[in-house]
Amino acid sequence: MKRVVVSSGLKEADIRPPALMSEFKRLSIQDACEFFADESQLVEVDCPACGSPERAPAFRRYDFLYNACSACGSVFVSPRPSDEALTHYYAHSRASRFRVEHFSRDTAKARRYHLLASHANWMGQLFDETGNREARSYADLNSYSPEIFDEIRALGLFDTLLSVDPLLPVNGGAGTPVQTAAMPALAGVGAISAFEKLEHQFSPFAYMGVVRGALAPDGLFFFTTRTISGFDLQVLWDKTPYIFVPEHLNLLSIEGITRLIARSGLELVELSTPGQLDIELVRHAVQQDPSITLPPFLEYLLERRDALAHADFQEFLQKHRLSSHVRVAAKRIKE
Ligand SMILES: [Zn+2]
Repeated sequence: MKRVVVSSGLKEADIRPPALMSEFKRLSIQDACEFFADESQLVEVDCPACGSPERAPAFRRYDFLYNACSACGSVFVSPRPSDEALTHYYAHSRASRFRVEHFSRDTAKARRYHLLASHANWMGQLFDETGNREARSYADLNSYSPEIFDEIRALGLFDTLLSVDPLLPVNGGAGTPVQTAAMPALAGVGAISAFEKLEHQFSPFAYMGVVRGALAPDGLFFFTTRTISGFDLQVLWDKTPYIFVPEHLNLLSIEGITRLIARSGLELVELSTPGQLDIELVRHAVQQDPSITLPPFLEYLLERRDALAHADFQEFLQKHRLSSHVRVAAKRIKE
């Protein structure tokens, strides 16, 4: 299985401008209070990664309880809004509308340069090396960066490009032909991607099952998500400023993701944490929130050591899968 280390000079502000992020978070928290106010409608769930019922309370955020799975260490919200309540929320909340209207468009250039090109190259390379090259269709789930299709088209590996239940109009700037599709209609797809979607699914296991059913034999599923195993989340824990409901219902551990893939009938091809921002995120959180106290070693590292030490430390986190930004490629096993 592959592990990859990446460096491209990425800055948090490039992909998540602070003003947009804080407004999106403010709306999300407000909307969550309104949409999910009735606690009797919340649903208890077992660990969304490994299925274990054993858990202990981890922390509370904005009236929601995050639990830590005793078996795999994943952290997850339970009780949580039902699948139907979440669907209703994403269709009607102000936070969703804000994301579609501002967030993706205003950050499109930086996202495209830093993330989409590297996502497309990553997927193209693995598809070329290990995918089913007869299945020449590609689908992106709930696209909110339509430019991904321009990057994918440039690879020349796929004949059909599908935007599944898109959040934004699908045609990218370069006029790439893209078809719109609904998830249940998908079948025999060569490659499917879902960027930062797993963390807000009601049931990641059910989600993986649907994706598996849509893939061709040897088809590949590519996804990114946040992992609780990462440095910044482990250090900041309940004080992590960018974790909130319902965006982050599932903060799966590396061990949890591995189990989720296996029990979903998929084979792990790559699990890397190519995040470049952990140190910057921790430093920024500490600056913004005086109630955060770092262990002396981390305070020393961040305050007294230079950029080279920080870059080496970040590379160590990537190399040992200890960054919180995780990317995964998994293959549908032939029956
Ligand atoms: Zn678990």
